[in-house]
Amino acid sequence: MEKSSKAVYLDNAATTRISDTVFEGVLPYLKERYGNPSSVYSLGQESARAIEKSRERLASALNCTPGEIYFTGGGSESNNWAIRSCGASHIITSEFEHHAVLHVCENLEKHTGVKTTYLPVYANGIIKIEDLEKALHENPSTGLVTIMFANNEIGTIQPIAEIGRLISDWNKKNRKCRFHTDAVQAVGNVPIDVQAMNIDMLSLSGHKFHGMKGAGALYVRKGVKLPPFILGGAQERGSRAGTENVAGIVALGIAVEEAVGNLEEKNALLLKKRERIYNEVMKIERTRLNGDLEKRLSNNLNFSFEGIEGEALLLNLDLMGIAASSGSACTSGSLDPSHVLLALGLPHEIAHGSLRISMSRYTTDDEITHLLEVLPPIVAKLRAMSPVWENINV
Ligand SMILES: *Cc1c(COP(=O)(O)O)cnc(C)c1O
Repeated sequence: MEKSSKAVYLDNAATTRISDTVFEGVLPYLKERYGNPSSVYSLGQESARAIEKSRERLASALNCTPGEIYFTGGGSESNNWAIRSCGASHIITSEFEHHAVLHVCENLEKHTGVKTTYLPVYANGIIKIEDLEKALHENPSTGLVTIMFANNEIGTIQPIAEIGRLISDWNKKNRKCRFHTDAVQAVGNVPIDVQAMNIDMLSLSGHKFHGMKGAGALYVRKGVKLPPFILGGAQERGSRAGTENVAGIVALGIAVEEAVGNLEEKNALLLKKRERIYNEVMKIERTRLNGDLEKRLSNNLNFSFEGIEGEALLLNLDLMGIAASSGSACTSGSLDPSHVLLALGLPHEIAHGSLRISMSRYTTDDEITHLLEVLPPIVAKLRAMSPVWENINV
């Protein structure tokens, strides 16, 4: 196969391009509107007003009040803050959270007295409410449940409203358990209402929905006491010191408004594209889809091809101009199979041969055609070279 000059970006779960509207909206804040939001003169106050405008836009997207939004440096920071600072001595989470949740829990277990229960996610990549209920009854002092809204590798969507309802009922008997969700993959892809879903804290990140890298937010319900995360200046009502990333925050506000504005229409288009890819790729023999087909993000597919290495597959796709991923961006570069795929119960050798395709509203039918043309021959070529495949086929 010839090296292709096409550029096909199918790794939107890792990051997204910034939208044209976001780009235009941000430019003034990279040039003439550079004032420090804490300064009293007009140039500073202009920046301060831009931040508050973004806060309002986020609040309206999540159905909360602007006073419940705190800007952060992204999804990882929001997760760290919520979990580290909430003061829980027992935490319930799931086996396949993002490392920005799992590594915080592990770190707390190692260095403090915090205990953590990890709920299984089964072959379909979804927790069972009964398991959560049982874990709460076994650990009535649980101070935090943190379950991701949608998984970043396999796109499965968790029963967030049911979890919220369960915890809210649980708290009626004089208990104080908080519900945090890492919604970094869900915002802009799934409708979210923090009131209706009884969510106490929610993490999000601008660069996953066509905003900029390094700007995210943590929603904290009024009445939930969360100590400050970064001490210093009085930014973010004294909770997160440091001169604000004004451009990133402006981008976040515009991006969230755009993303939730045309959600239904966008998802309908993505579902059609997803179905097309799914139908074609599943024709390749000994291929499986990882995670539930229905309860998953409209932009995500994750396949395992028996007998091949995910890394080799990615390099071959890259030669054909296609950017995709195997597991998460954080695990690529290491030879460990994805903790998400292992949590589904996949054997190591199959977890190694996985491919994540994640689309965005910019993904075109032509790009998909290109993927569907080059993927089957690449899989066939790699299998022809694979000693593992020889053994499978005897
Ligand atoms: C990308 C991602 C994060 C990390 O967000 P950053 O803004 O890159 O720190 C956390 N959780 C999930 C589910 C993600 O997909």
